[in-house]
Amino acid sequence: MHCYECSLVNESREAVAICHHCSAALCEKHLYEVSDPVTEVYPLMRTVVLPKKARLLLCGRCKTALAQRQSRCEDWAGVER
Ligand SMILES: [Zn+2]
Ligand SMILES: [Zn+2]
Repeated sequence: MHCYECSLVNESREAVAICHHCSAALCEKHLYEVSDPVTEVYPLMRTVVLPKKARLLLCGRCKTALAQRQSRCEDWAGVER
């Protein structure tokens, strides 16, 4: 499979990942790896962030769009590739 972002600019690169959000195939240049907090909801509706974070692979467009959510902004700022 070839990278979707590359195909938009008439380039052709082998895809190494799929965007978690839009399912676009992505090459190394166009993928973003962010850490995805894993939460657990305890009784009394208390949401707790667990110590280990999951991996989430995103394209540039989805990363920007999803980072609009306040809670994730801070978390994703430090993991720009
Ligand atoms: Zn690409
Ligand atoms: Zn995407």
